[in-house]
Amino acid sequence: MRWKQRYFFTILFLLPLFVCAQPHIVLNNEKDAYTNFEMELLVNPPIQSAEEIKNIFASSLPKRLKNNFALGYDTRDHWFHITVLNNTQSPKELILELTEQFHKKVDLYELGKDGVHIEHNGLRIPLQKRSVETPNPAFRLHFNPHERKELYIDLASNYSLYGAFQLKSPQRFMEDVRRLTHLYLIYFGAMLSLALYNLFIFFYLRRKVYLYYVGHVLLFTFSVAIYKGFLLPYIDMRLYDISQISIPLFFILLILFSQQILKTKEHFPRVHMLLNAFIAVSIISLTWILIDIHDGFYFMNVTAAVILPMLMFASLLTTRKDKTVATIYLIALLIFIAGMTSIAILALGLIDYSPWITNIPMFASFFEIVLFSLLLAYRINKMSQESTRAREELIRQQKSEKSRLFQEVAAKTQALNQAKKRLEKELEEKKLLEEHLKHQATTDSMTGLMNRRAFIDEFDKELNRARRTMNPLSCLILDIDHFKQVNDSYGHHIGDLVIKRIAENMKEHTRTIDHIGRIGGEEFAILMPETHLDDAYQIADRLRDFVSRYEMCFDRQTIHITVSIGITDLRDKYETIESILQRADAALYNAKREGRNRVCSL
Ligand code: GH3
Ligand code: MG
Ligand code: MG
Repeated sequence: MRWKQRYFFTILFLLPLFVCAQPHIVLNNEKDAYTNFEMELLVNPPIQSAEEIKNIFASSLPKRLKNNFALGYDTRDHWFHITVLNNTQSPKELILELTEQFHKKVDLYELGKDGVHIEHNGLRIPLQKRSVETPNPAFRLHFNPHERKELYIDLASNYSLYGAFQLKSPQRFMEDVRRLTHLYLIYFGAMLSLALYNLFIFFYLRRKVYLYYVGHVLLFTFSVAIYKGFLLPYIDMRLYDISQISIPLFFILLILFSQQILKTKEHFPRVHMLLNAFIAVSIISLTWILIDIHDGFYFMNVTAAVILPMLMFASLLTTRKDKTVATIYLIALLIFIAGMTSIAILALGLIDYSPWITNIPMFASFFEIVLFSLLLAYRINKMSQESTRAREELIRQQKSEKSRLFQEVAAKTQALNQAKKRLEKELEEKKLLEEHLKHQATTDSMTGLMNRRAFIDEFDKELNRARRTMNPLSCLILDIDHFKQVNDSYGHHIGDLVIKRIAENMKEHTRTIDHIGRIGGEEFAILMPETHLDDAYQIADRLRDFVSRYEMCFDRQTIHITVSIGITDLRDKYETIESILQRADAALYNAKREGRNRVCSL
């Protein structure tokens, strides 16, 4: 039993040694790249000198793992052991490459026939001091025919430990580097074009959202350039650590951009406040990264894990306001999250490493960025459509306002014209009325001759003219003889008709320039301008004669009427109307006294 036990334990002890003894890579003449093999790992072994390495690996139980490794966040030194056997007759030149460049320390301990050869690499070694000047740590290896080499790699990182060791011929190595570089240059070109395009739009429209977008694109591009080692020739290790703040900065700009494009301030103020709080948290993680890259980075990953679902939530809310914007944004964000998640779970060591996984975020973000650009274009288009609509509405309103004003003006003009016509008519009527009133005031209604007042007014005018022109002016007063008897014999009505008839006779026997007035009941006066007393006398006598021979027939009754006339003229220019009329009256009195039916002058 006892020896059986000892035998069992010996087997158990020798088994790993036996396995270890098998080379991990056997070189042959066909292959130019060895990308799938196993290796050994010891975490933080107590190694004092290079000579100890072999012994420690031999005496410990190293973990066996594939050349593609993802070990999570761990700052301790990790020692990898790879055994390579050149199984050919010819010597071989090969390059050992680690496919990720962000590890701080990548030191190779090469144990061959010629003893130990040590080469330092990793971020802390500047490119120009490396034997192979590529961002990815790479070592030149020379194999003699049938030579076996033990390769120990000391790996330490501030970030996550993941990557793959690959052994390639120099030609294949350079080919792969070139191919990947070309691919990334196209990628950077596309990203920078998008940034530049939207920067132009920003200068044109002056809207912050474009600036956030441009910042977002540039920072992401910068992060990728850092992550893929494109900036390694230009920055040292310290700057490399500082440049990691581009990731929280990128998140800050993503939040600012999302707030603008989803209009959270306007539509969802509480979500907006929460996003502002995440901006503050991102600023904290940014500061933390500057102080302690390892913990700061971890904190930032946790923050990102909350920010991204929050943005998803905001976009889901936006579906209520603008479905197109919300959908495009959500798709873009989901693509971005998918890319970021793949790298996050890789960094946490939850999935196996493969070189293409590390490229997923770059290409996912490219789609995200293109979709965001489409979103901005959609927004411009929508804005311009809205402004066109608003302009058309304004023009329509102006037109209707114009036609309304036009109609109002037309109606007002019509009303004014009507009012004007009414006023004109009223004025006309007023004028007629005034004329009528004046006529009434100056005319004797029975005979149509001037009444006494009008006659005196005319007399005044003629007197003034005669004084001025020194022309003669004559005046007569006529009184019907025994008129009382006419009234008494035929009635007052016939008396009126007689008065009218006498008035007509007077009109017929005078000139148009003469003025005739009824100055009493059956008394008349005639003013004859530019007429000497003699001429006036003849006119008066002709009139008297005519009346005396005139037969007036009323109601089959014939009436004979005679008149007495007193006549006078203007004697000197200072005479008054009263004195002239008195003299005429006196002449009339004489005519009456001398027997009536005669003309007397004074
Ligand atoms: P004589 O002049 O010749 O001395 O006599 P007479 O009869 O005409 O006297 P007087 O001139 O004084 O009379 C005037 C009369 O005329 C008095 C009045 O009744 C009458 N009379 C005055 N005005 C009117 C009138 O408008 N119509 C009528 N029918 N009679 C009037
Ligand atoms: Mg009389
Ligand atoms: Mg009389």
